[in-house]
Amino acid sequence: MSFRALVLSQGADRKVSGVIETLPDDKLPAGDVTVAVEYSTLNYKDGLVLTTGGGLVKTWPHVGGIDFAGTVERSDNPGFKPGDKVVLNGWRVGELHWGGYATKARVKGDWLVKLPAAISSKRAMAIGTAGYTSMLCVMALEKHGLKPAAGDILVTGAAGGVGSVATAILGKLGYRVIAATGRPQELTEAPDRPLLSERFAGVVDTVSGPMFAKALAQVKYGGAAAVCGLAAGPAFPGSILPFILRGITVYGIDSVMLPKAPREEAWRRLGTDLPLDKLDSTVSEAGLSDLMALASKILKGEIRGRVVVDVNK
Ligand code: NDP
Repeated sequence: MSFRALVLSQGADRKVSGVIETLPDDKLPAGDVTVAVEYSTLNYKDGLVLTTGGGLVKTWPHVGGIDFAGTVERSDNPGFKPGDKVVLNGWRVGELHWGGYATKARVKGDWLVKLPAAISSKRAMAIGTAGYTSMLCVMALEKHGLKPAAGDILVTGAAGGVGSVATAILGKLGYRVIAATGRPQELTEAPDRPLLSERFAGVVDTVSGPMFAKALAQVKYGGAAAVCGLAAGPAFPGSILPFILRGITVYGIDSVMLPKAPREEAWRRLGTDLPLDKLDSTVSEAGLSDLMALASKILKGEIRGRVVVDVNK
């Protein structure tokens, strides 16, 4: 039994090179579930791993790919049986553990989530970590008690991977979404006052920086923000006043180490609350042999939409 993988090695200059190899199954890492991978995808983090390792990879040779979807081939885990359709996001797979840029992956079953019947393995990778993270943001706002009648929801970085899916989900759920895209001046300059007019019932923030500070200053009394990203850098010039004068709440979202139960809930909800057909027009397809060239492009921000990787191509 063998599998094909894009095997990465790091040279003395830290530069990573990749060669597609056929390896015997006993080269797969330890784990209680073996998955026949069908699709993976390309994230910014994957770009780092494929070019320099980004300090994320500890041992070489390595197989990247932080997300994958496929079919269980073999399982010693009572939660899975051969034939189950599964998805994996995060858990530092593709960084510390071999990932999805291969026709097989062996992982801990506890890291896997069963795919809802409505979501094919290809669409699961069009959703990817970005889409699953946007569902987590929406779930946080719902947990806060927000309903469409509460008012507008601001989504920052709305044309990005997380923001575009968050906008689509919130729209389908009946919210009026204010999608901030590009660098609208009214949002990118740091707020000149700690509290501005109350405008948004909730915020999904993917960028941080001045835009997030300005958004917080406009959240209505008792409202909430779900924050997951730092596209504009980690720091933000904010004030404590929106918290202590308007009683607002900020929910931090981490998709990587999130426990299994909310992951399963997020994927179940993606099956019902994301207009899946809208995703298809944003997707381009690649094979394992395209990845080394695509890696530097994603790091330079030259890729629009989602790249889905057919690992059998
Ligand atoms: P993308 O690169 O697809 O989108 C980011 C968007 O942010 C861009 O499209 C742009 O939006 C906007 N943006 C970029 N730079 C700036 C800036 N300087 N000022 C204002 N807006 C800016 O990234 P993703 O959507 O995939 O990820 C968004 C963030 O979420 C990233 O920081 C990522 O690391 C993080 N993330 C976190 C996860 C977690 O578990 N917490 C999981 C996944 C992602 P527009 O084009 O509309 O102008």
